[in-house]
Amino acid sequence: MDLSYILNELGEDRDDYFRAVSPPIMQTSNFVFKKVADLRSSFEDEYSTWLYSRGLNPTVEILRKKLAALDGAEDCLVFNSGAAAIFAAVLANVKTGDHIVSVADPYTWARKMFDNILPRFGVSVTYVDGTVTENFNKAIRANTTIIYLESPNSWFFNLQDLHAVSMLAKEKNILTICDNSYCSPVYQQPIALGIDLVLQSATKYISGHSDTIAGVLTGKRSLIEKIFHSEYNTIGSGIQPFNAWLLIRGLRTLPARLERISRTTKEVIAFLQDHPRVEKVIFPLHPSFPQFELAKQQMSGACGLVTFIIQADQCSTIEKFCESFSHILMAVSWGGHESLILPKCAGISPETFDPRDPAHRSLRLYVGLEEAPYLVADFEQAFNSIKNLS
Ligand SMILES: *Cc1c(COP(=O)(O)O)cnc(C)c1O
Repeated sequence: MDLSYILNELGEDRDDYFRAVSPPIMQTSNFVFKKVADLRSSFEDEYSTWLYSRGLNPTVEILRKKLAALDGAEDCLVFNSGAAAIFAAVLANVKTGDHIVSVADPYTWARKMFDNILPRFGVSVTYVDGTVTENFNKAIRANTTIIYLESPNSWFFNLQDLHAVSMLAKEKNILTICDNSYCSPVYQQPIALGIDLVLQSATKYISGHSDTIAGVLTGKRSLIEKIFHSEYNTIGSGIQPFNAWLLIRGLRTLPARLERISRTTKEVIAFLQDHPRVEKVIFPLHPSFPQFELAKQQMSGACGLVTFIIQADQCSTIEKFCESFSHILMAVSWGGHESLILPKCAGISPETFDPRDPAHRSLRLYVGLEEAPYLVADFEQAFNSIKNLS
């Protein structure tokens, strides 16, 4: 389906709402019936009627259609966070005694679910280095029901060969789930590569304005409908109509924003890789990246998130560097209009900082919608502020 059609027309029937260009926010909790028979059939098949907005809602419906089409999927559910999408996707497909093989270092809250919640229900997880497909094969047991992937993952952008892993899983009747937040559907299409369930944090590129928390889950209609009737409606973690409207608004400019961010990211990387205080730049579409070939093969682009290793002996030098920016903000998350810096050393106590470990000296940059020279100038002055510090 044409990207322009998906973003500008699909799911929108303007005759239904005064021919308005922008769809209404259907801010209602419930829907009215005139006939008991209609109410009865709605109870019987909540997945195809307006009954109650914890289930379906017309504004959310427009968004679902667009996001399913963007992923090349049959169906979609939108959650009030990416974490909720992860939780529902996994919970819906395990029972006591089951085993999950997960890529090492998945998103923090996916890992907390695997480590803290699932063991309480007798579900175990094995983490594998996903850069080698054979590692998944070795970790699979008779009771493995899910292979959980995130490609590229946060910080160091390790990839999994999505097609190869999905083939392996299909052979053994194991469900594959992939977190596609880094690429968004614009730059990577896991369903076309054979993945069963694809999720992303819509908080990032889909929203694009750092004002909404949301998550997307797409896949075959049977898989998605099953989750709607159980986890989605039971946990009650569906997106609210106003937030759905914000995401529809975000989608209008998604390709334009990504194109712009791609260009700026290249310029900022060119500056960083030549800077004497930068030991290394890590970016999946950089020729120095160990999985550059695979990245080119399964991703049509990458932008915004870049990690670099700074040369510093002291944690305080990195702290001073991060606190010296005039425009680039220090914050978690990414995908919005504003550029962000996040030092890894914020996640460790300063006493345990080890300058010999490059990970401790890593900083994650998100390049937003500002002009490249504006960002480069900000970097120059931040590097200058630590010129005499080791
Ligand atoms: C942000 C993020 C999530 C979680 O999404 P929320 O919308 O914050 O709940 C999941 N995976 C990745 C890779 C993320 O970056």
